[in-house]
Amino acid sequence: MRSRGRRRILYRVKRIVIIGGGTGGTMVANRLRRENDVEELQITVVDRDDAHLYQPGLLFVPFGLERPEGIVRSRREQLHNGIDFRLGEVDRVELEENAVHLADGTDLAYDALIVASGSTLLSEETDGLRGPGWGESVFSFYSLDDATALRWALVDFDGGRLVVNLVDMPIKCPVAPLEFCFLADWFLRERGVRDKVEITLATPLDAAFTKPVAGEHLGGMLEERGIGLETEFATGRVDGAEHRLVSWDEREIPFDLAVVVPLHGGAPFVARSPGLGDDLGFVDVDVHTLQAKAAPNVFAIGDAASLPTSKAGSATHFEAETLCANVERVLGGEEPEGSYDGHVNCFIESGFHKALLIDFNYEVEPLPGRYPEAHLGPLPLLRESRLNHLGKLAFEPLYWHVLLPGREVPGIDATMSMAGKQAPKQGGEP
Ligand SMILES: Cc1cc2nc3c(=O)[nH]c(=O)nc-3n(C[C@H](O)[C@H](O)[C@H](O)COP(=O)(O)OP(=O)(O)OC[C@H]3O[C@@H](n4cnc5c(N)ncnc54)[C@H](O)[C@@H]3O)c2cc1C
Repeated sequence: MRSRGRRRILYRVKRIVIIGGGTGGTMVANRLRRENDVEELQITVVDRDDAHLYQPGLLFVPFGLERPEGIVRSRREQLHNGIDFRLGEVDRVELEENAVHLADGTDLAYDALIVASGSTLLSEETDGLRGPGWGESVFSFYSLDDATALRWALVDFDGGRLVVNLVDMPIKCPVAPLEFCFLADWFLRERGVRDKVEITLATPLDAAFTKPVAGEHLGGMLEERGIGLETEFATGRVDGAEHRLVSWDEREIPFDLAVVVPLHGGAPFVARSPGLGDDLGFVDVDVHTLQAKAAPNVFAIGDAASLPTSKAGSATHFEAETLCANVERVLGGEEPEGSYDGHVNCFIESGFHKALLIDFNYEVEPLPGRYPEAHLGPLPLLRESRLNHLGKLAFEPLYWHVLLPGREVPGIDATMSMAGKQAPKQGGEP
């Protein structure tokens, strides 16, 4: 991301309240703090707990490749000096009052509000998911407790049908269930029991991934590894007693071990805040400026925002540049600029110490090529390589020491570039 330098926006101290001290909230708080003086801007981050979880690490916990305690740090300690961190549960936002109401009765008044409250796992929305069989044959890996519990189930799994299922979109990191399948294939081969296990990915999508070129490529990789793909499977209920997933149209998939990614929604306070969110509880924003449709001094970032791009830490990072600039503009009496293009990139761990990388935005789907720059970029796009795997591993220290502190990543722009990408020919083939 390119630095815009300090802009003097204010004549009296202005108050920014940020709901959520996760990926997005921490990045923008630190970035705004670096760019504005304490006498000009008061920044408050509110979160319900002080445990910042590096969520991409959840993928590795079930396979013993990360320790659960190794991916959690204090939220407060990720925030720069001069940022006020409040522990508290947000009950609702009153847009007309410019105030955030906490569950303990405290009110936080703001001049600008940034909603960075992520997404909420709605396991209870799927019949039977947390019913009979939960923790015995039915598991998940999207929270620290769930990923840790699954570790022991996988270690003990010696044969049978392993079904990985995403209940519905949107989910955080839409490639994570695919990565789980690839790692399960690797893990079970390493344990010498792969030939006794049938692995199936059951997805509501019509392909392995949302975008056609990547979907076909990733579908081919599943096939090569002998992993079944059950498409357009809209999970209606999990029948743990009978060991089967049942779709709304009454298709059944039997399992011995099910790994289910639950339905996602926005934070529940969004629904309690008149005018703020859409039906799923995500904040309705302009997709380029990230300004809330409900009020000009309200913005949303990351998973909390209703955007037609992946819910991912990388997208959150690219959004931060636009969002910070626009918050400063609006506080300074200017109009926001629409510079966010939906840019996101993800490493896709594929097992055997390899990974793929995809890079795309609202307009351009993931394409083959090289990243980050034309021809010279060392990372192959949409192709497995050891270097991409090292990139995936390097993402963790980069997250704690560069992204969260709001620093620039040299050579990586917030706006997606076509340099190095092979544009698809007519008919879709790259
Ligand atoms: C298994 C898995 C693998 C992933 N892998 C990748 C990857 O490889 N690459 C990638 O880019 N992304 C990945 N992601 C996605 C990435 O972690 C998220 O998209 C990113 O963390 C979103 O950041 P956020 O700030 O929007 O939300 P979060 O970081 O989740 O922060 C939201 C915060 O809001 C707080 N909050 C919510 N409601 C309230 C309330 N009422 N009161 C107070 N506080 C509240 C929460 O406590 C939380 O701290 C992965 C996610 C998962 C689950």
